[in-house]
Amino acid sequence: MPKPPIGRLAPSPTGVIHLGNIRSFLLAWLDIRSRNGTLLLRVEDLDSPRVKKGSAAQLIADLEWLGLDYDSEIVFQSQRSTLYEEALQKLIGQGNVYPCACSRREIELAASAPHAEDGSTVYPLTCYQRFSSYGEASECAGRPACWRFHFEQSNIRFTDGFCGDKDFETKSLSDFIVSKNNGEAAYQLAVVVDDAAQGVTEVLRGDDLLDSAARQIAIYQALGVDVPTFKHVPLVAGEDGKRLAKRHGDTSLNHFKQHNVSPQKIIGWLAYASGLTRDLHECLPQQLLGDFDLKKLDAKPLVWRGDFTT
Ligand code: GLU
Repeated sequence: MPKPPIGRLAPSPTGVIHLGNIRSFLLAWLDIRSRNGTLLLRVEDLDSPRVKKGSAAQLIADLEWLGLDYDSEIVFQSQRSTLYEEALQKLIGQGNVYPCACSRREIELAASAPHAEDGSTVYPLTCYQRFSSYGEASECAGRPACWRFHFEQSNIRFTDGFCGDKDFETKSLSDFIVSKNNGEAAYQLAVVVDDAAQGVTEVLRGDDLLDSAARQIAIYQALGVDVPTFKHVPLVAGEDGKRLAKRHGDTSLNHFKQHNVSPQKIIGWLAYASGLTRDLHECLPQQLLGDFDLKKLDAKPLVWRGDFTT
């Protein structure tokens, strides 16, 4: 018998949750709960300027309203800096990271090509093997330097549980920041340290993080810890095929609540429009468990046409 999986919901409390997040959370919840696994909730509240006060409490209440429950205590990344620091020290000791003095603007100017739709750029390796110490890099920057992870391998290959075989050239992923110049762990490091520490065996999330999985695998390998199974699912898009955004109308949970839309309506529509149910009917996540099979999920983005009827 395979061991029951351990999964997680890892929202960032950067504002209100919307249809796109709800669908990814619903799928992560169903995928774990349908196999009697354990589902953890981790609030990714590290990105200080983007983290909004009160958002974490709102998020927790919203998940409950939707019927998406979780097991054990909630973990907050803002309380786990010691763990991230230990991992960083290990990477420094092994020579997997180097101090970087570049500003965002310098990197953008020197970058050869934009990397992905999210506007991130390929790091031109300006600071690779440039400084003999962190202090020297900080002096050059005129402020604390950040730490960048250096890929040793040319490719990262893995099999995604939804998208299939993937092969990323590390040249295009480019050396990336694991510790910011304010000393806070960057997303890529924190997520790996936490998933490893919490014993997460499966990660299901939106496919905008598919290339992040490749970066994270390199960190797992450097830290010598087991890599979880990744499943990256399509996002929700507007009728123009683009990722759901403000121009497609307000799809925040708050907006739907204000218009008396029930959780059953939202969940029922998401399940139907995602290909999980044969007909459109209102339901709660619990009622989808019996028939759930991730293979039924449409491989194309789910299109939001402005209401819960189509
Ligand atoms: N906290 C991240 C976000 O909300 C997700 C991290 C992850 O699932 O790995 O975008």
